[in-house]
Amino acid sequence: MALLFVGALVPFPGSLRVIGILLAIGFGIAVVGTLAYLFFQLYHTRCPHCDQPMATHRGRASFTATCFRCDTTWDLGIGLGRGN
Ligand SMILES: [Zn+2]
Repeated sequence: MALLFVGALVPFPGSLRVIGILLAIGFGIAVVGTLAYLFFQLYHTRCPHCDQPMATHRGRASFTATCFRCDTTWDLGIGLGRGN
């Protein structure tokens, strides 16, 4: 990940430039893939009590997840940088 980022910043001379472009594309794919994975994790949380899938909501200040079996809402502790 870090290596890809550094590779994208280095100015490659001549025909090596295509390698820099490929590294930049690779870095972009890595970033998008990481974000997609984090969002997948965020919306596929499981209840710490009964291990059931929970419904994730975007609250005012952070993400929360509700377990319908326990009737409990968990604060996922992921803030959105606004509110409060
Ligand atoms: Zn539960």
